[in-house]
Amino acid sequence: MLAAIEAGGTKFVLATGPSPDTMTARHTIPTRDPATTLAEAAQWLAAQGTITAIGIGSFGPVELDPGSDRWGFITNTPKPGWADCDIAGYFRTRLGVLVGFDTDVNAAALAEYRAAETAGCRSLAYLTIGTGIGAGLVLNGVPVHGVAHPEMGHIYPRRHPLDRDFAGVCPHHGDCLEGLASGPAIMARWGVSLSQLPQDHPGHAIIADYIAQACHVLFAAVAVERIVIGGGVAKTAELMECIMARTAELGAGYLPGTARHRIHGPQCGEDAGISGAMMLAQTAR
Ligand code: ZN
Repeated sequence: MLAAIEAGGTKFVLATGPSPDTMTARHTIPTRDPATTLAEAAQWLAAQGTITAIGIGSFGPVELDPGSDRWGFITNTPKPGWADCDIAGYFRTRLGVLVGFDTDVNAAALAEYRAAETAGCRSLAYLTIGTGIGAGLVLNGVPVHGVAHPEMGHIYPRRHPLDRDFAGVCPHHGDCLEGLASGPAIMARWGVSLSQLPQDHPGHAIIADYIAQACHVLFAAVAVERIVIGGGVAKTAELMECIMARTAELGAGYLPGTARHRIHGPQCGEDAGISGAMMLAQTAR
């Protein structure tokens, strides 16, 4: 039996089952301090039966270098108490099983890749636009890492003409993509969420433009076949259509894969993260 954890900043989703397609038990617990949260998660998982491997998709930043002795750690997160947390090591020791480990975004990307693979897709990016912005990349079934995981939220987009003065909310970069287009950035500018802004408010075009720039970067730099856009902000009515139209404008008909590049919403819905974590259990080491 496989076990999986989608470790988020506000909740941990837990699941067990024989395969990623078949989750036979699920449970959600609130994220508190590491000692309390990890102990409660391990206790629930152990009560489900004999586990052979566990997959963890975690909020980050995390250490993914297999050569590092800190592989499987949550590293320098600002979340109180969670910096330098050996989350993979905890479950390896506590449950006595091998651990598959990646970011929560890469886990979601894996699940979306598997859903798209049935239609012949071999390259996919999952872009999440919510409290933060992140992207997971899967090429030929394998999540992409360099010396660390991608941090697409921290690229610098070209400023929108109607958005020259906003300083941005990223504590590190100010007006990076996350600083300009995440949920907190929208709230900081206009005091409401994007879906609460009137449909004729320029905020819709401004946010769509920034996200479209990220899509253009993914298409131009990696030539992925598909970009799946998830997260709370992405649920705003008509935003996806605006992003698609703006991305096509930015591409200007030049990119060789234009006809084969696609942008769409998640096929796995809210289950992408936990399904991908189950897939990570199959790569446990
Ligand atoms: Zn940033």
